Amino acid sequence: MKKLVVVGNGMAGIACVEQILKHAPRFEITVFGDETHVNYNRIMLSSVLAGEKAAEEIALNPIDWYRSNNIRLRLGARVTEVDAALRVISTEDGEVETFDSLLLATGSYAIMPPIEGIDKDGIFAFRTLDDTRALLGRARPGVRAVVIGGGLLGLEAARGLQVQGCDVTVVHLVDRLMERQLDGIGSYYLKEKMEALGVHVLLNKSTLKFLGTAKVEGVAFVDGSRIAADLVVVAAGIRPNVELGRKAGLKINRGIVVNDHMETSNPDIFAVGECVEHNGVCYGLVAPLFEQGKVLAATITGNKGPTYRGTVQAAKLKIMGVDVFSAGDWADADDKESVRYQDPALGVYKKLVLRDNTLQGVILVGDTSDSHRYMEWLRTSSDLTGHRRHLLFPPPGADAGLDIAQMADTATICGCVGVSKGAIIQAIHERGVNTLSQLKEATRASTGCGSCSSLCQELLKAVAPEFEEDTKKVLCRCVPFTQDNLRDILRSQRLRSVQEVLDIYGDGQGCEVCKPALSYMLDMLWCGDHDEDRSARFINDRVHANIQKDGSFSVVPRMRGGVTTPAELRRIADVAEKYQVPMVKITGSQRIDLLGVKKEDLPKVWADLGMPSGQAYTKGVRMVKTCVGTEFCRFGTQPSTAAGIEMERRFENLFTPHKVKMATVGCPRNCAEATVKDIGLVGQEGGWQVVVGGAAGKTVRKADLLITVETTEAALEAAELFFQYYREQANYLERTYDFVERIGIDKVRKETVYATDAAKQALLDRLRKSKSHSYDAWTEGREPVHPTQFIPIQALEKVHA
Ligand SMILES: Cc1cc2nc3c(=O)[nH]c(=O)nc-3n(C[C@H](O)[C@H](O)[C@H](O)COP(=O)(O)OP(=O)(O)OC[C@H]3O[C@@H](n4cnc5c(N)ncnc54)[C@H](O)[C@@H]3O)c2cc1C
Ligand code: SF4
Repeated sequence: MKKLVVVGNGMAGIACVEQILKHAPRFEITVFGDETHVNYNRIMLSSVLAGEKAAEEIALNPIDWYRSNNIRLRLGARVTEVDAALRVISTEDGEVETFDSLLLATGSYAIMPPIEGIDKDGIFAFRTLDDTRALLGRARPGVRAVVIGGGLLGLEAARGLQVQGCDVTVVHLVDRLMERQLDGIGSYYLKEKMEALGVHVLLNKSTLKFLGTAKVEGVAFVDGSRIAADLVVVAAGIRPNVELGRKAGLKINRGIVVNDHMETSNPDIFAVGECVEHNGVCYGLVAPLFEQGKVLAATITGNKGPTYRGTVQAAKLKIMGVDVFSAGDWADADDKESVRYQDPALGVYKKLVLRDNTLQGVILVGDTSDSHRYMEWLRTSSDLTGHRRHLLFPPPGADAGLDIAQMADTATICGCVGVSKGAIIQAIHERGVNTLSQLKEATRASTGCGSCSSLCQELLKAVAPEFEEDTKKVLCRCVPFTQDNLRDILRSQRLRSVQEVLDIYGDGQGCEVCKPALSYMLDMLWCGDHDEDRSARFINDRVHANIQKDGSFSVVPRMRGGVTTPAELRRIADVAEKYQVPMVKITGSQRIDLLGVKKEDLPKVWADLGMPSGQAYTKGVRMVKTCVGTEFCRFGTQPSTAAGIEMERRFENLFTPHKVKMATVGCPRNCAEATVKDIGLVGQEGGWQVVVGGAAGKTVRKADLLITVETTEAALEAAELFFQYYREQANYLERTYDFVERIGIDKVRKETVYATDAAKQALLDRLRKSKSHSYDAWTEGREPVHPTQFIPIQALEKVHA
């Protein structure tokens, strides 16, 4: 079998290898990559910087993929020499490999201009996962971050740093941001929005030098001005990595020159991706590399035929919540006409440039919903004579299904991962895909920036036999966004108060539906570090008690694990007599309820009780019911009481999408009904079963098994992982039993207890951060006057062992 060596383990190289594998196996493949990671989605680095994705989540091809395709992978191995005549490459470390065919997919590198002081500590590029991790290591609230470069990459970096809490300034050499994608007006709209969201923008600024001794402390400009900086990101452009091509004696201009079959000037050597130049163009976006990869795969496997004719350059992105789309040649000229629409209040700008009734270029700011229609017109050079009346807005009642039906099978639907309409239809027919999540799983479409999800839905609607909508409904009429969408918006725009969200995205007022939901989302997203507005919560949360039908309130103090003490019982009795509480009742969840307390007595009742709130009124953690377990029961196999107390301690005072009830039992006899709780720990001989998504109310559901573990600490950790995952992924007011059914227990397991160590740690870190900001509602964070309850020390020791 012939030997193929691939240099570059990036998006282009591996996308091309994936295509090569679709042809008959004719190569023994070795891939060299100088980064130490498996192939990942580089365009998602900004999401990693913004904390929206963990590094592991952007991996495209796991190690197993290389293994199962018999690909030898050499990571952290930089190829430094090529001998084209002998057909051999060698690495920095002296490893030598011969080849029959060589594929160069070396991408680009970030330009670091020769500015004085650019090697100071605290100055970074933004190209790789390692760069992103280094930035994350420095970015924190209060850090003054300066981004040199107001192009696409610079603005992506600015967004991520702002989300991390940095005070961000973008410095740009010319008079408008993203000048390669936007004209003056589009750029102005973008700048206005960024400044409104707190990013400083300095235009027409040429950097003279970086100030500071060893560490960067500021930036000085040619015009004599200077600004302070603790962190600098240089996003001054990219340059194709052509060094190996040069060493191999290939024809090089700006990039490695390739023809329409993706052949270089040497018949044994091929090149793909950002390192190539085709027809005088070097591309810096992902869409071209997928098209190039398909052509190259055919050529290299002896199926030469398909040709690459260039790609219409298009960029679609969201910067600080502003949708931006730019494609083709949108510059004005005498032989072109431009059609525009502007709404400054909405921040919407559209510009179409036509020549002889065909679309030449387009700019969209603030509303990119029609971008696929324009892309198709550009790609096919459609005659638009019949569309003139509806160029900027589709005709009333236009059927999106028709629009999508007209697209060619080769049209790219998902630009981030390079999935065509044909590939999606094939997945629908051959793999029984009916929902967006199944489509993501089968093709990876819509797993990048997500902007193609509505188009994927349209396609599913049109083609899938049993289409099921799995996007969620909009929250309400005053805030007309889906909850997924809202979480993205709140995170990316760093909104921290309900009123801010209502002012920018709602009607300024809000309603009983959106206000509590937004309160919850802000609390969850910022791990409690947000501006709490008590008036936006449900009435019960505002008064910290459950309102009864006669207008009085019920007071349920917390008794962790259902355990109390004689002193607490005495105080409860005293309070009941002193405030003439009409009924004292044992609840179904092993607590004591004082029913009929008058509103004006509530603060005095709480103070006299000297116990924390049991939060029997909130969409949050209720209680952990326990059985006596090994402490007193002859059947007990595990310390269920101590485990339950500890579990309640870890979760109490936290808000959740809906109420969360838990239980721990010492053996499968299940005396505290753990198998019908939101989270349950069921003791077994030699360990615990952790079960989730159970219910025994209006809905009755036996909980699903999440995992079986040996120690109490492992069981508690599994419960924590599920708990935080539910907090982050569920819709507001969605109980765990609906959530687990909707997501599927396999996926829940995969993303919690079987996730990577880093992803698990990230969930736990966010949970711990939320916990550190939580407080007892009745004392507003002050310690209760009296100690709470008796905790069996030996059992707790076992928990911590
Ligand atoms: C932060 C960021 C955001 C982006 N956003 C978008 C976007 O929204 N939309 C879009 O279309 N595009 C975007 N891009 C661009 C997109 O990521 C690139 O077009 C794409 O990754 C190019 O793929 P490639 O394989 O050609 O190059 P790369 O992904 O750079 O891969 C090349 C690989 O080869 C390795 N390599 C180089 N030389 C050697 C050697 N001698 N030996 C061994 N290994 C070597 C490199 O380290 C690298 O891992 C973005 C890029 C960045 C950095
Ligand atoms: S569940 Fe088992 S350990 Fe717990 S009280 Fe019942 S029988 Fe005893």
